[in-house]
Amino acid sequence: MPRGLLLRVFFSTTFLGLLAFLYFKHPSRDSVTMVNVGQGDAFVLNIDNTLIVVDGGSGNDISYFLRTIYAKSCVIDYMFITHFHADHVDGLLRLLDHCKVLNLYFNDTDSVNETVLGFTKSLYSSANVIHTHSLNKGDTLNIGDLEVLTLWPPASYSHDDPNFTSIVLLLKIKQFLLFFPGDIDSTVLRTILKEHSILRNVDILKVPHHGSKYSYDPVLYEMLNPRIAFLSYGIDNNFGHPYMPLILLLNTLGTQIYSTANHGTVTVYLDT
Ligand SMILES: [Zn+2]
Repeated sequence: MPRGLLLRVFFSTTFLGLLAFLYFKHPSRDSVTMVNVGQGDAFVLNIDNTLIVVDGGSGNDISYFLRTIYAKSCVIDYMFITHFHADHVDGLLRLLDHCKVLNLYFNDTDSVNETVLGFTKSLYSSANVIHTHSLNKGDTLNIGDLEVLTLWPPASYSHDDPNFTSIVLLLKIKQFLLFFPGDIDSTVLRTILKEHSILRNVDILKVPHHGSKYSYDPVLYEMLNPRIAFLSYGIDNNFGHPYMPLILLLNTLGTQIYSTANHGTVTVYLDT
């Protein structure tokens, strides 16, 4: 993987409108935005003029971000729910009030409980969700120049904790590798890295599980060796996110670290 490619970064802790303006000014430039949703995950990708959302936090932040850019004509081409925890999915339900989703992807290996049933019922019954799809390890989507590989979970896999059945995505666009591992822990990460040698020196790492110590293993992070790390967590959260040894190791690796707590909403343009 060439390491000299240009990733331009814009971030804003307070001026979301300015960031939206920059984003809107360059709608044809491929970009990845980590939306500041506090404690949770929400990412908006604009690739080949295709709008892709990965998770949606728990509040109105992603709705506000997309409303600022697209007003009432928001059409999301692809939406991915990594797992059914409120800090990833609640904001997506709110988004359906004003955005149409052409293709919604989630996995059906999550343990079925009332929370999951409530979410899926709302998603299936929404008139704004056009198509729903199940996604498992081995599934691949080709969206223009973008290739989306699903690395986890296997169709036969189940676990009581939805973090373990997070959909794990590797996005290949141009020369860039973008790794979105949901909230998996280090045991699942180890399994994935064993199977996929391509995950050495990724360009963008969405740090798993908000930088939790349960997802941390220095050997695995040295393999990933990310150029840019996105860390999404709430200021003064009660979960101990992020785990400080993880930050120290990323600093040692020379990774550019962007966190919602320190930088707010961050957009990276994938320029070559
Ligand atoms: Zn989470």
